[in-house]
Amino acid sequence: MEKYQLDRLLKNLLSDYLVFAPIKHKGMVFVGEIDSVKQINYSGEIPLNTYKKVFLPPTEELQQINDEKVSISKDRQDKVVAFGMNILDLQAHTLFDLVFSKDVYYQRRKRNTVVIGFSNGIENDFRKYKAFHSKYEEDVLEHLIFDIFIEKQKNANLIFFSGSQKGQQLLEKNKIKDYQHIEFAGAIPEEGINPRIIENREAVELSEKHPIWDELAEICLACGKCTVHCPTCFCFDQKDEVDSQGTKKIRQWTSCYYPEFSKVAGGHKDLDTVKKKIYYWYYHKFVRIPDEFSYYGCVSCGRCSRVCPVEINISKVLQSLNKQQ
Ligand code: SF4
Ligand code: SF4
Repeated sequence: MEKYQLDRLLKNLLSDYLVFAPIKHKGMVFVGEIDSVKQINYSGEIPLNTYKKVFLPPTEELQQINDEKVSISKDRQDKVVAFGMNILDLQAHTLFDLVFSKDVYYQRRKRNTVVIGFSNGIENDFRKYKAFHSKYEEDVLEHLIFDIFIEKQKNANLIFFSGSQKGQQLLEKNKIKDYQHIEFAGAIPEEGINPRIIENREAVELSEKHPIWDELAEICLACGKCTVHCPTCFCFDQKDEVDSQGTKKIRQWTSCYYPEFSKVAGGHKDLDTVKKKIYYWYYHKFVRIPDEFSYYGCVSCGRCSRVCPVEINISKVLQSLNKQQ
């Protein structure tokens, strides 16, 4: 398949959708809204920010309450394309689909969104970017949620895959007939939960008394940058905003590092020290999420380490914890 076919697909999508894609700015790759296909960066480099705001906006209005009537607020987001999602971001997206499977607001937005993955050779990207967790598996696409996936081969040829009916229809409509359909086989492979998830789970669960948490608490600023940039962090807060028109229920991102995160009535906080916050963050990713969803709570994209102002590196932390066993 030739590049002009991809450009034609994207040009057509740009006329009907808001398109978010990897773009290069001041030497760094970011996810941003584009208005021309020329802006897209195809290096395959992991963008510093994530696609999660497409599916879970930092702030969104959920409901309005007027005259004792509760109504679901309109989604202010238009039809959107998330273009260029790499394998790791698709894994994070698959986790979101598990976590928000019964969330009407997320599901409504999902219906209006087209997810298009891109890789410069899946196996190579896997080797290059996956810092820990698991090795490359042939059937990786079968366990990911996407509409279209495009793989660029070494000779620059493009291979198209569809992962949903929506993806198939878009490819057909854009005269791309030579594609392979991948039937979603569930987020978890038949052979069961990935052994690396189990290893990391045990290492983190047994580590509560490990000195590393004291060492990290000494330097961590509890700034929450790692949670904002993490594609699998999904914690949110809800609040009511009251004005003369009525009440609005608002949902917004939060972080387990923020002071108010674990505060309950009476002022008690479970996470009242930096040490507890750090341990909680690892425990949520490596123990609670695998227990609840049998899935990765961390896709090993390395963004948290890239943005941490005191250079806390998740890969090294896991290495230390795994050595304790
Ligand atoms: S490596 Fe860090 S940023 Fe990436 S998924 Fe894991 S915890 Fe989140
Ligand atoms: S980015 Fe670094 S310093 Fe900030 S909360 Fe995360 S681990 Fe702590």
